Amino acid sequence: MNDSAPLRLRVAIIGAGPAGFYTAEQLLRSEDPQFEVDLFDQLPTPYGLVRAGVAPDHAKIKNVTRKYDATARHESFRFYGNVTLNSDVSVTDLRMFYHQIVYCTGAQEDRLIGIPGEDLRHSHSATEFVAWYNGHPDFRDREFDLSKPVAVVVGVGNVAVDVARILCRTCEELKTTDIADYALAQLAESAVEDVYMLGRRGPAQAAFTNPEAKELGELPDADILVSSRDAALDPVSRQWLADNPDRLTERKVELIEEFAGMSSRTKRKRLHLRFLVSPVEILGSEEVTGIRIVRNEINLVGERLRPSPTSETEVIDCGLVFRSVGYRGRAIEDVPFDDKRAIVRNEGGRVVDDDGFRPGEYVAGWIKRGPTGVIGTNKADAQETVALMIEDAKSRRTNLPTQPGPAAADSFIRSRSPDLFSWADWQRLDHIETERGKPCGRPRIKCTTRDEMIAAIRK
Ligand code: NAP
Repeated sequence: MNDSAPLRLRVAIIGAGPAGFYTAEQLLRSEDPQFEVDLFDQLPTPYGLVRAGVAPDHAKIKNVTRKYDATARHESFRFYGNVTLNSDVSVTDLRMFYHQIVYCTGAQEDRLIGIPGEDLRHSHSATEFVAWYNGHPDFRDREFDLSKPVAVVVGVGNVAVDVARILCRTCEELKTTDIADYALAQLAESAVEDVYMLGRRGPAQAAFTNPEAKELGELPDADILVSSRDAALDPVSRQWLADNPDRLTERKVELIEEFAGMSSRTKRKRLHLRFLVSPVEILGSEEVTGIRIVRNEINLVGERLRPSPTSETEVIDCGLVFRSVGYRGRAIEDVPFDDKRAIVRNEGGRVVDDDGFRPGEYVAGWIKRGPTGVIGTNKADAQETVALMIEDAKSRRTNLPTQPGPAAADSFIRSRSPDLFSWADWQRLDHIETERGKPCGRPRIKCTTRDEMIAAIRK
């Protein structure tokens, strides 16, 4: 870099989800140094989990994309959709063109429970089901047998809530959303009538947030059922809450007690919310026929309230199991990875290996900190990373690209990914999808294969 020239750096961001967009927004705000941002995604479409993860019946949450669109309008922003890192372009390729690279690839894998029977037919990860009903091209061919009357969702985080809620929604409710067409058709025929959610700890430790839990009690066609035994706080949790008063947890516990007090059983479906139970085995010879669970008690181990099994077991007969026990980051070729935490090795967002900081490489979002928090959490996370990027840029601790001009990067990427989607291509697809939705009163009808997306914009 020439010391007398104004500092202007080129940055590649990998992953166009919330973390990628917040990182781009922060970078493009900086006046000194100035940044040019190229945002890559393996899908032709932007927005990551806002498009492929947020539940279709949570349309308001998706309005956050308006903020991302404002970022995309910046003159120094470019989008390269349908470009996959390490199959179309490698990290080594990117180092030829960019001063800094930021990995915002999220947590693309799901965690296993680690019990026998997880690989039986009709045992799925929630991740697959969520991506399927949201029309993610890589998941649209997954099959879910919704002809079974009983489904069990393991976990009580917000993803488990989403899965349980979608299984309990009526066709009438879903048909005004942007759910994938094929999923709408199959859910309309669903025979699922009983959905169990299994929390291994008690109501005070449930991972779901209060507004999401409250919504479960308001489903038009599903009664929520919680036994008074499950809703009651165990003595250790009661003492813990007395010692660590927390308004949100207290409200959560109250909410679950309110659910336990509801005696109505008038609706077509039932959502059974269970606490202090862990799955020990998914039963069946080829396909799922049930799940064996064990009753837990809560013990304080160090600072944490942990579940430990009692001798009380029970079998829930069911034909479908969704494990919703959290996501896991996926290692990126040629980038240091902490396998235990399933994140890119980093310090505050700077990628590090055994020799220390790797100049010019950063992370933000779930691949930096693990799969926690809501969409907005990624904003502060990106701010932290960008502050370090600016600091390093000012002290000239960047990668030194051999071809730093935007045209060189552009022609290289186009040569590797002939079907890439620019931001203008995405805007065209967005328009096509929303127009298709209008006659049916839906926010959009999604294209759900890459070929369909490419064909749609080339018409
Ligand atoms: P999560 O919040 O970490 O919940 C994971 C759940 O799985 C917890 O109930 C956990 O119980 C349970 N679990 C873990 N290991 C288990 C095991 N071996 N056996 C039984 N249960 C087990 O993860 P998530 O639901 O995947 O959500 C990921 C993030 O996305 C969260 O921050 C979430 O809030 C966010 N999200 C937000 C929304 C929204 O705002 N509407 C929607 C979807 C996702 P323990 O607590 O006992 O570990």
